[in-house]
Amino acid sequence: MIRKSGNRFSDKIMRLKIRPLSGNRQEPVADRPKSRPRGKAKRRPKLAPGSRLTQAQVDDIFARFAAVHPHPKTELKYTDPFTLLVAVVLSAQATDQSVNRATPDLFRIAGTPEKLATLGEQELTDKIKTIGIYRNKARNLIALAKKLIAEHGGKVPETREMLMTLPGVGRKTANVVLNTAFGQPTIGIDTHAFRVANRTGLAPGKTPLEVELTLDRIVPARYKHNAHHWLILHGRYVCKARVPECWRCIISDICLYKPKTPAPVT
Ligand code: SF4
Repeated sequence: MIRKSGNRFSDKIMRLKIRPLSGNRQEPVADRPKSRPRGKAKRRPKLAPGSRLTQAQVDDIFARFAAVHPHPKTELKYTDPFTLLVAVVLSAQATDQSVNRATPDLFRIAGTPEKLATLGEQELTDKIKTIGIYRNKARNLIALAKKLIAEHGGKVPETREMLMTLPGVGRKTANVVLNTAFGQPTIGIDTHAFRVANRTGLAPGKTPLEVELTLDRIVPARYKHNAHHWLILHGRYVCKARVPECWRCIISDICLYKPKTPAPVT
């Protein structure tokens, strides 16, 4: 309650004093909120470049893959760089099993660029017709064999740029051949590796190239040579396209994919 003094000036001062603080007026020092004590601010963990995970988490993922599967290998059957190149070209939009069913017979009669070129497109088409988009692949492989003979002395080139000039050879195929045939630390991004990289938050990207470049930056050097095999195998057998088997996944505590699949009720 406001008591009046009877003095009009004093009454006015009293009204001013009790007016609530507003606008730019400063609060009394005692009423100001205390600033957060130094050192208590919650720091966001620094993420690996391009990733949604920290570098420690990225390292941990590959350390676990390495512990469980120290020597991952391609599941394609091949005997040398040329037969590997042919098998990888054939595996585009097809399963490794379907390629492996056709290639032993094919490589028996046409396991070199010279023999494949001599075999001819029609004969090759007959040999690979159980594999997806076989007509295109037959045409490309005959042209590829001829180009290897004409420009590379029948040898598979060891650079990505050269490989990508061959018919039917894209960046993924080139990376797989460089990695598996020549031991280079390249990372081929197929549909499985692409899915795992995105779901986990390891290397999110809209294109395989984006994913590959991020992985190239963040995968520790000691794991790089095997990285694409681990990602492919993990995607093929655990982090499956339709229903990922999160309940038996060795990286589920790191993976950012939210709707984790629970174990099936037995
Ligand atoms: S937890 Fe599930 S989604 Fe994540 S990597 Fe493992 S299987 Fe894939």
